[in-house]
Amino acid sequence: MSGVNRVNKLMLDEANFVLDILLSHGYQAYFVGGYVRDRAAGREGKDIDIATSAKPEEVSRLFPRTVPTGLKHGTVTVVCPNYTFEVTTFRKEERYEQYRRPKEVRFIGDLRTDLERRDFTMNAMAMDRQGNIIDPFGGLSDLRQGILRCVGDPEERFAEDALRMLRCVRFAAEYGLTVEEKTWKALKKQREKLRFIAMERVRSEWERMMSGSDPFRALSLLFDSGLLPHLKTPLAIPAVNWSAADMPPALRRIGELEEPEARWALFMLAQGVDANLARQTLSKLTFSREAVSHIVAVIRCDEMIRNSLEKAAGQNANLTAREAEKAFKRAAVRCGVLAARRWLSAAPLLPPLFDTAEGRTRPAKRKGHELLLKHGAAWIGEIPVLRVEQLAANGHEIARAVGQAPGPWLGWVLDRLLVDVACGDMPNDKTRLEERARQYYREWSMHE
Ligand code: ATP
Ligand code: MG
Repeated sequence: MSGVNRVNKLMLDEANFVLDILLSHGYQAYFVGGYVRDRAAGREGKDIDIATSAKPEEVSRLFPRTVPTGLKHGTVTVVCPNYTFEVTTFRKEERYEQYRRPKEVRFIGDLRTDLERRDFTMNAMAMDRQGNIIDPFGGLSDLRQGILRCVGDPEERFAEDALRMLRCVRFAAEYGLTVEEKTWKALKKQREKLRFIAMERVRSEWERMMSGSDPFRALSLLFDSGLLPHLKTPLAIPAVNWSAADMPPALRRIGELEEPEARWALFMLAQGVDANLARQTLSKLTFSREAVSHIVAVIRCDEMIRNSLEKAAGQNANLTAREAEKAFKRAAVRCGVLAARRWLSAAPLLPPLFDTAEGRTRPAKRKGHELLLKHGAAWIGEIPVLRVEQLAANGHEIARAVGQAPGPWLGWVLDRLLVDVACGDMPNDKTRLEERARQYYREWSMHE
């Protein structure tokens, strides 16, 4: 079920109705997993999963609308008027293959055995129709003491399914738990088995850590675990070999950023990872093309602003406000307003942007940095045009004014005009645009 839901009265009523139907036909049925855990932890759950002794075909027969979500694994989605619920038959996972989820499962009649296959004690609790908690492995007490602990022998559990090691890091960070000593030792011992886990599943866990309630803690644990050097597809970013002590101060405050894209961008920037390496890394992590471009745009924005200010401050010791403004607006047009806003949110966390190698900041650049942070948001609002199509003269008109057939030069000229108008260097006026286009065309033909 999608993550936008929150457990509410209506959802609970419908879930109870599903239990009632199963119980009245003589089956056992319980709430399990995340809902029971979140309720015990005093947190808002987002969906309700149900476990039952009824076989998948029996579940399908009992309800008018069902979807065979994972029949082989025993999961049927029951569709109620307002919400849907995953109803999974009690099962035992027997043959784990290559340290991944088992290919086959065996359906069983007993709740306790079903709970036994689950990863952590707090995830191995059930709740009956009357609200009684069934907690055979001490999940409640672990939660109360702030401890995350494997069910059973942690070494075996991590070897059965290596993804659990990432889940361990995610849950510890998200719920502010200390990983129990044996569990943590076992995780470190089994970390090399992470290479059997598909990068999609790694990404999904890592994404949830990064967008969760404490990404700093998640990253600290991730570095301390030593898991990152053992990914199926190796990553070439410095952080892979960091320990928690190597984390730059910028990352301590990563949780202050609202948007996951800004958090990922800060993660890359704080390591000094450039746009190309960031793109390569995110692609290896199987982020969608769109997600990659959103994050990389923030890093490009950073690079463009640095380069412009570098240039401007190199020419004169006294960087003017106008120069800082133009540098920023140009980057906003080139990388997109969304990326510029995200850069603005992340920039105050980064070390003084324009430090020299010796760690000192030249006064002119420091001033530029301060100007950007102070006025950036307002500058974004002032930009009159963001796309070439918004210029008062279109490509044909510019080509006619220049007296040349459209060609590669045209895009180059239009782009320069766009930046000029966006930065407030010239008005968005047809005659002025055509005039300047002729000048730019001359420049272009000299370079060719
Ligand atoms: P959330 O939905 O917030 O991630 P959740 O605990 O509901 O939390 P799910 O992935 O929906 O997580 O899994 C539901 C339950 O299934 C878990 O609570 C746990 O009991 C069990 N589970 C899920 N993945 C694993 C796994 N890799 N190994 C063992 N048990 C698992
Ligand atoms: Mg769930």
